[in-house]
Order: sequence, then C-alpha cells, then structure tokens
Amino acid sequence: MLIFHSVTLVIFILGAIVGSFLNVCILRIPKGESVIHPPSHCPHCKASIAFYDNIPLFSYLLLRGRCRACRERISPRYFAVELLTASLTVALFYKFGLGPAFFSSFIFVAALIVISFIDLDVMIIPDVISLPGIVLGLVFSLAGPYVMDDPFEIIPSPLSSLIGLLAGGGFLLAVGWIYEVFTKVEGMGGGDIKLFAMIGAFLGWQSLLATLLFASLGGAAIGLTVMLVKGVGRRYPIPFGPFLCLGALLHLVFGQQLAAFYLSPQ
Ligand SMILES: [Zn+2]
Repeated sequence: MLIFHSVTLVIFILGAIVGSFLNVCILRIPKGESVIHPPSHCPHCKASIAFYDNIPLFSYLLLRGRCRACRERISPRYFAVELLTASLTVALFYKFGLGPAFFSSFIFVAALIVISFIDLDVMIIPDVISLPGIVLGLVFSLAGPYVMDDPFEIIPSPLSSLIGLLAGGGFLLAVGWIYEVFTKVEGMGGGDIKLFAMIGAFLGWQSLLATLLFASLGGAAIGLTVMLVKGVGRRYPIPFGPFLCLGALLHLVFGQQLAAFYLSPQ
C-alpha cells in the first residue's frame, strides 16, 4: 500500500513538471517563440527565474504567487495548469496503469490542455500542436498493438484512427460550410476542424459522437450562462476548442462506463 502511494506521488510530481512545461507552451506558442530557449523569466520585470523558484506548485505557494525580484503578482493560472496536469496524470495512471494506453492518453491530454488554454487566450488552435497530434494519433494506432497489449482498448485500430481523423475533420468542415452558406458568417474555425481530426485519430471514430455531444452540451450551457449574465442578443465569441477538448477527455475517462451503462439490459 505504501509503495503504491509513493508511486502515485512520483506520478503526481512528474505530471506537475510536465504541467510547468505546458505553461511555457501556452504562453509562448501563440507568440511564435521557442518553448526551450530562453529559460523562464518573470513576464513583468524580465528577471530570470532561478531553478529553486521554478519548482512546480511548490514555488508558487512558497512565493505566495509573486515574483521574487519585483513582487508583481503571478497569474494563479500557472498553478492551476500544473495542478490540473498533475491530477489528470494521476487519474490516467489509476485508470490505465503504466501501459501503452497511459502513454498515448497522457500525450493526448497534454495536447488538449495546451490547445484549450491557448484557444481561451487568443481564440486560435495552433497547428504546431494539432497537426503533429494527428500524425501521433495515427502512429500510436499503428505501433500500439506491437509494443504492448492495450487491455483497455483505448488505442484504436489503424483503420478506426484513419476513419476517425477523416470523419472528425470532414464533419466539422461540412458543419462550418453549411453554417457559412446560410448565415454568411464563418462559424467553424479551421483550428476546430484540425482539433476534431486529432481527437478522431487518437481515440478512433467511435469516440466522435460522444465527444461532440459532451462538447455541445457544455458549449450550450456556458453560452446560455454568458447570455443570461451579459444580456441576450449581444454576440460574445466563445471558443469551441476547450469544449471539444473537455468532451474528448470525458469520453477518454468515462466513455466505457457510459457505454456499458446505456447498453446494459434494464
Ligand atoms: Zn518580476
């Protein structure tokens, strides 16, 4: 039991370290900057951050969310992204163990986190994440069965992955086109199309319907809330990417239980 807990702690710490790197990606990719160089610095005073002040989660608490040099507030979002990544890493470890399903879904979830926060910030889903993501999803589907058994059947067959990427991208492409024909307004960004193709490539075509259902319900709920709070009739652009990501995550973690629940004889 003690061994199990210490493994969980190691997984949590590794997840927080990756989360710290995802923060750098979220900040720098929209600006077209390198995610490796230069090392982290304070966004206000540009002072470089010493390694002992750059410990995920811990440093933020120790410095009470302020830069050591200029005492300017550091956004709590850095802490939140590290905690979210660490928690999801532990959740994936609990669900999948340390097999190929864990590694595939860990990379997938890391990409979803970066895409969600960049889309929230600048309403763009960067190609440098979604396009390699599509390729990686296909590669995992081809390599998965040969590397190790995936008893969870999370990694789709190569055919399911290929159909998923074509159907996911194609469906949103068609929705956007129809919306544009009727309203003369561009409704579906190219980023959403590539993101849904990436989700299809990673999770297979069988995941698309549930993902879209979760995403639409979430999007409708938030959209209605925004309308109620800010007033009906005004247009507030809400990025759809984070909802697609959340939908894919829900399907990844709970999809099999939900399917079993609906398909079980009453
Ligand atoms: Zn500073």
